[in-house]
Amino acid sequence: MTEVTDVIVVGGGLAGLVAATEIADAGKRVIVVDQEGEQSLGGQAFWSFGGLFLVDSPEQRRLGIKDSYDLALQDWMGTAGFDRDDDHWPKRWAKAYVGFAAGEKRDWLRAMGHRIFPVVGWAERGGYDAMGHGNSVPRFHVTWGTGPGIVEPFERRAREAQKNGQLTFRFRHRVDTLVITNGAVEGVSGSVLEPDSVERGKSSSRKVIGDFTLRAQAVIVASGGIGGNHDMVRQNWPKRLGEPPKFMISGVPEHVDGRMIGITEAAGARLINRDRMWHYVEGIRNWNPIWPRHGIRILPGPSSMWFDATGKRLPAPLFPGSDTLGQLHYIMSTGYDYSWFILTQSIIKKEFALSGSEQNPDLTGKSWRMTIKRATNKGAPAPVEAFKKNGADFIVRDNLADLVSAMNALSGDNLLQHDHIMTQIEARDREMSNPYVKDAQVMNIHNARRYIGDKLIRTAKPHRILDPAYGPLIAVKLNILTRKTLGGFETDLDSRVFGTGGEIIRGLYAAGEAAGFGGGGMHGYRSLEGTFLGGCLFSGRNAGRAAAKAAS
Ligand SMILES: Cc1cc2nc3c(=O)[nH]c(=O)nc-3n(C[C@H](O)[C@H](O)[C@H](O)COP(=O)(O)OP(=O)(O)OC[C@H]3O[C@@H](n4cnc5c(N)ncnc54)[C@H](O)[C@@H]3O)c2cc1C
Repeated sequence: MTEVTDVIVVGGGLAGLVAATEIADAGKRVIVVDQEGEQSLGGQAFWSFGGLFLVDSPEQRRLGIKDSYDLALQDWMGTAGFDRDDDHWPKRWAKAYVGFAAGEKRDWLRAMGHRIFPVVGWAERGGYDAMGHGNSVPRFHVTWGTGPGIVEPFERRAREAQKNGQLTFRFRHRVDTLVITNGAVEGVSGSVLEPDSVERGKSSSRKVIGDFTLRAQAVIVASGGIGGNHDMVRQNWPKRLGEPPKFMISGVPEHVDGRMIGITEAAGARLINRDRMWHYVEGIRNWNPIWPRHGIRILPGPSSMWFDATGKRLPAPLFPGSDTLGQLHYIMSTGYDYSWFILTQSIIKKEFALSGSEQNPDLTGKSWRMTIKRATNKGAPAPVEAFKKNGADFIVRDNLADLVSAMNALSGDNLLQHDHIMTQIEARDREMSNPYVKDAQVMNIHNARRYIGDKLIRTAKPHRILDPAYGPLIAVKLNILTRKTLGGFETDLDSRVFGTGGEIIRGLYAAGEAAGFGGGGMHGYRSLEGTFLGGCLFSGRNAGRAAAKAAS
């Protein structure tokens, strides 16, 4: 017999959980369908760093940061670079989202028990003019408890609704088709996958043991993006970024497979901005992988020197942490799909953070004792030291000649010349004697240290890279790491999906990464960071509330 409910949510990631809990709160029945097992509830958000974009928060104010809706909107628009007719709804979502981040987002989360680490991070710092890309001020608020800390309130609410019989989970149920009657979406059907107790994040069995059909008045697609599917990433790779990279690593589990995007498109939904994606350029191969091709992103502070594969320093303002898309564009123009950081032990100790809940046991475990060690320890945080010791992309040497020859051996390309690298590092090092200099990266380091948060835990004291007192020297080979999908299904502000003819498809909603985090791409070309989890919260909430209202 076909099971009938009020609303079906496809995907038990953050966007799906938020939508489902809003539906249950509105007194409606909801079924959450996910292809993975119960152990993977929360999707990508569980693995995330839990960074949230907030504007004019008490945490910012306590650190002396003056922020406002107007400044954040200026930054967002300069970053997004909206330039298409298709950007009509994405732009409306962007404005609404910045309003949410400057308004009720923090209080709404706080009322559910969510807490924030007090030092606000400064991601995507830009370096162009005031109307260009980047955050004018620090806005990256890390969840106390990282990814699991952002999933927890919604999982808790979902479990309560489950107890009351309002919410049902259907794990290991993979949606293969949307059921459509007279142009309205009325349900989903698909395959029941065999039970699999594989650990969270690992690839699970795809063996089919049955089928299912569910019916409802509305279906919300919250199935995530395409980052785990490198074929799809390459197919959607924009011409403006050159040829797709030959070698990439995965910043997301394999279930971020993009399959449901094709299924929803086949049902007539309009997918826009599919060529806009957010992949990182500071990816390192995980020495202790969980999912296939598992890579970790370095969240770098501003001091490492950045060289392309041929040994040329990246041009200003492409410094660590400034402009991810600009860096990707530059790197792809070199004809190689990797680049290098060269730094010192003093820099790695203070400036390397690794994105991912499992890479930050202190913050994830909510341990003040361990977290304080970040500032007081002799070495870098233990997970960073473990990468330094075991990571395939790390080289540690006492002198530059040995470092460069090991870099050549690692890449196998033999493109680096010791004298060329040494000349550039020595020139930069001569700029360290004065706090007022012409090297834009060094100016940037001095600027960063005027912000107390950076000075305390994110920016090393300025020093000469070739001064052995700060050594040993470290080189890191940086790979391209797939992560986020910025385009998605075009939706109105109620998350209702448009069809290819420009009409709303009755009964169909989209949220989270599948909706380009709202509207089909509220980020435009670039992100200010911390905007993806926030985008799941906002679009999931809108979708859940609207679908519950529509279900009579
Ligand atoms: C390591 C890491 C660090 C990150 N750090 C941050 C950060 O600090 N700040 C930030 O803002 N963002 C961060 N992100 C990004 C953010 O976590 C994701 O963009 C977001 O969680 C996506 O949520 P979602 O609900 O849209 O999709 P997902 O989490 O991908 O969930 C989708 C769910 O749908 C299911 N599904 C897919 N297809 C089907 C189908 N056909 N049938 C049934 N089920 C299906 C999947 O199994 C999955 O459970 C990070 C991500 C990672 C991986």
